[in-house]
Amino acid sequence: MVDEIRASTRETASATGVRELSERVTAAMGRVPRHEFVPPSLAAQAYANRPLPIGAGQTISQPFIVALMTELAAPGPGSRVLEVGTGSGYQAAILAELAGEVYSIEIVESLARRAGETLGRLGYRNIRLRVGDGYRGWPEAAPFDAIVVTAAPDHVPPALVEQLKPGGRLVIPVGPQSAVQELMVIEKLPDGRTVETRKLPVRFVPLVRERKPEGR
Ligand code: SAH
Repeated sequence: MVDEIRASTRETASATGVRELSERVTAAMGRVPRHEFVPPSLAAQAYANRPLPIGAGQTISQPFIVALMTELAAPGPGSRVLEVGTGSGYQAAILAELAGEVYSIEIVESLARRAGETLGRLGYRNIRLRVGDGYRGWPEAAPFDAIVVTAAPDHVPPALVEQLKPGGRLVIPVGPQSAVQELMVIEKLPDGRTVETRKLPVRFVPLVRERKPEGR
């Protein structure tokens, strides 16, 4: 799997600006047991460089995309990272290998519960999970050094930009639902201005918004 990720990284280098994966990200991808994060019936396919279904109509992302987003987010040992879209918990585990604290929000309760069980069983102690709409971020835990969004909104959620530290990076697929989106990096400069870079066409499940209670 790591060899395939390296090959995909080289093939996309001119678009992404990432020529080689760092040693830290490569090591994390080698350490986290992806088969623990997929349904038992798909465990044999867990180390192919492909997305796989995880239930509730959702998918665990392609390993290359997980590695690329992690590289672009560049979490350091002391950093505080927010993920939107916990899904299986796999991306959260990769981030937790590299960061100080990981906060991850999932809107589907059954997925959040299962991810919590998996991450607990594997011994991760630096991941906090919450059920809710990640469009609003996690204000009580902000600001973050990096934010990784693994479901696609059609615009950049303003709260996520607000919750970035100066010098922080937001890695997010943006674009129409059920079509190709653009993987973007939004960097907040030390003076608070932001710089957007488009990296790669990608396909993510849509970022869905929490439904308002009926009749109100
Ligand atoms: N990062 C995941 C892959 C996630 S697939 C992994 O490593 O397995 C995208 C996930 O985002 C889905 O589980 C979906 O339910 C969730 N999601 C969609 N909209 C959301 C929202 N507004 N807030 C939080 N999670 C959301």
